[in-house]
Amino acid sequence: MTDLPPPSKVKLGLVIDLDTCVGCHACAVSCKEWNSGGVAGPLTDENPYGKDPTGVWFNRVHSYEVAPTSACASSNSIAAEAAQPAMTLHFPRSCLHCETPACVTVCPTGASFKRAEDGIVLVDEDKCIGCKLCSWACPYGAREYSPVEGVMKKCTLCVDRIYNENLEEAERQPACVQACPTKARHFGDLGDPESKVSRLVAERGGVALLPELGYAPVNRYLPPRPRRTETASTAQVAAAETIDTAALPPVLRWLDRVLSR
Ligand code: SF4
Ligand code: SF4
Ligand code: SF4
Repeated sequence: MTDLPPPSKVKLGLVIDLDTCVGCHACAVSCKEWNSGGVAGPLTDENPYGKDPTGVWFNRVHSYEVAPTSACASSNSIAAEAAQPAMTLHFPRSCLHCETPACVTVCPTGASFKRAEDGIVLVDEDKCIGCKLCSWACPYGAREYSPVEGVMKKCTLCVDRIYNENLEEAERQPACVQACPTKARHFGDLGDPESKVSRLVAERGGVALLPELGYAPVNRYLPPRPRRTETASTAQVAAAETIDTAALPPVLRWLDRVLSR
């Protein structure tokens, strides 16, 4: 069995905004592309174009339809505000680089380990015997077994990008963060309360996934903002779009008249 290091001061991780994720899978594809080479590669695919394609993906995006909740008839304003229209929620899933992960402690060879310096959880493939105990121990489904190589793999937090001095400084970010077109993914030190990611989590009420399991995930998810009901949104949008044209400069007043025809 494998010991964990003392808790690290630096806790590198991802913050994923479920409000702005559009489920485009760019993060998953970019992750696959980057990690098919380098320290974690190859990420094999078997029968990739068949009816039941399988393969190694460190980052997977799941999409869910969330049923609407209706407004409560009571005068209770909290219940009334809880009314939500139906929505689609996209949920990217990769390793959460937990602080007390049993995926490390169950490993009989020391192949699965957590770095003392920055908290990243990695697999040393040279020591891995492919017993899959770690994947049974991970409640988040974040481990990916490669039947071709006979070893376990997982998200490395792009350890070979974030410290890579051959890359421009702006590119020393995880591939998934770089690729996200809506900037829904953020990378940084969640152990530093003053870091950008920690402040974002504090401002938006970011949450850990299933903290009751005791693994203390480092990654955080920012919950989706409440959606407006159709009636409320129509009225609010109309109000927001009302412009006092009389107060506009002459050129803009003319433009407003032309575009309003
Ligand atoms: Fe281990 Fe799973 Fe936590 Fe990643 S998410 S550190 S694989 S328990
Ligand atoms: Fe993939 Fe790197 Fe993002 Fe992890 S941090 S999900 S390895 S792209
Ligand atoms: Fe969501 Fe960004 Fe990933 Fe697209 S790239 S699925 S928007 S997190």
